[in-house]
Amino acid sequence: MTSVAAIVPDVTARTRSLPAAADGRTELVGLTRAELAAALVESGLVPEKAAKMRANQLWHWIYYRGSRDFAAMTTLAKDLREKLGERFSIGRPTASRDLQSTDGTRKWLLRFADGEEAECVHIPEEDRGALCVSSQVGCTLTCKFCHTGTMKLVRNLTAGEIVGQVMLARDHLNEWPSPPEGRMLSNIVMMGMGEPLYNFDAVSQALKIAMDNEGIAISKRRITLSTAGVVPMIRRCGEELGVNLAISLHAVRDDIRDVIVPINKKYPIRELLQACAEYPGLSNARRITFEYVMLKGVNDSPADAKELVRLLKGIPAKVNLIPFNAWPGAPYECSSDEAIRKFSDIVFNAGYSSPVRTPRGRDIMAACGQLKSASVKRSKAEILREQAAKEAAAAALSA
Ligand code: SAH
Repeated sequence: MTSVAAIVPDVTARTRSLPAAADGRTELVGLTRAELAAALVESGLVPEKAAKMRANQLWHWIYYRGSRDFAAMTTLAKDLREKLGERFSIGRPTASRDLQSTDGTRKWLLRFADGEEAECVHIPEEDRGALCVSSQVGCTLTCKFCHTGTMKLVRNLTAGEIVGQVMLARDHLNEWPSPPEGRMLSNIVMMGMGEPLYNFDAVSQALKIAMDNEGIAISKRRITLSTAGVVPMIRRCGEELGVNLAISLHAVRDDIRDVIVPINKKYPIRELLQACAEYPGLSNARRITFEYVMLKGVNDSPADAKELVRLLKGIPAKVNLIPFNAWPGAPYECSSDEAIRKFSDIVFNAGYSSPVRTPRGRDIMAACGQLKSASVKRSKAEILREQAAKEAAAAALSA
């Protein structure tokens, strides 16, 4: 079996060491209960025998009530609250922009402690809503029709930065303490920037926190992870998280998929579908969603639709047709309504649900594939140059 390290190129994994907030305090958001308890013991503020209980209390305040301030944690002694506040932080990414579409879709440009940026999008329905969460700053996959794919990958997000998106959205939607029902943030889709299966450890830890019943409590049935097809990680995703799986298929022939979803050269359609057929927990009640972006003249013919039906045979599946969302300089056009309708009819008549996804938030560049932030990958030399310049400036100031 391929190791994760071997299939993740060029990514700085920073998910295991305790993350620091911008002010140097230790960030608690994103830690497991065990890590939280260990951090309390290590700080010397909590004796080992009380650590588990204190960690559970903190968990409740952080993930059930959404507290950001230790002072409000009235189940802890005042003195302890003060000391915790000096050592630890309960942060969120900063929302440096908050854009609202005419259709109610909302996009936050997030800024993390190191200044890198990513985006997350809330898509409200009448009585519920999904949050589209990013897993990386940028993406390494270079899918030809995706705006995020034109960014160079900057880095993986940490577990705290991933679950922090959910917490930030809840702050804005006023959904603390965790409402038992009637939530406008009812679902999570890992369909923002990045390939979640290339940052699986952090994504997994973040989703486990989001699913925890004594906290944010969003059930695995309301979480969907979308992948372009990192085949060796698919089984683990099912076993460890049991969330719904979506596959960005987008083409039914390897020669076309090699071009538009280049990861196909590594994991071709046959292997991908094999991994799908073996996805743990799959049944007619729990189907895999196959996403299919409609690109004029590329993948949208009736023959393609028929081939799709043939390929999906035996896999409990539904198909989600996504009209291509344009972005500046995009090399494709969206298929005609007529072509999309024909394609959908063929798939539907073969027994698969095949809705056409209504684009949401196009006016604020929040629709599928439109996300892109200004973060760019910097070389080591650049980072060193910047550091040297900062040090020189600081030295000049103190001279
Ligand atoms: N890397 C993961 C997560 C991103 S999900 C994945 O590929 O699945 C984002 C979804 O939007 C994917 O299905 C992606 O293929 C699709 N998409 C990307 N660009 C698009 C565009 N311009 N128009 C419509 N859908 C797009």
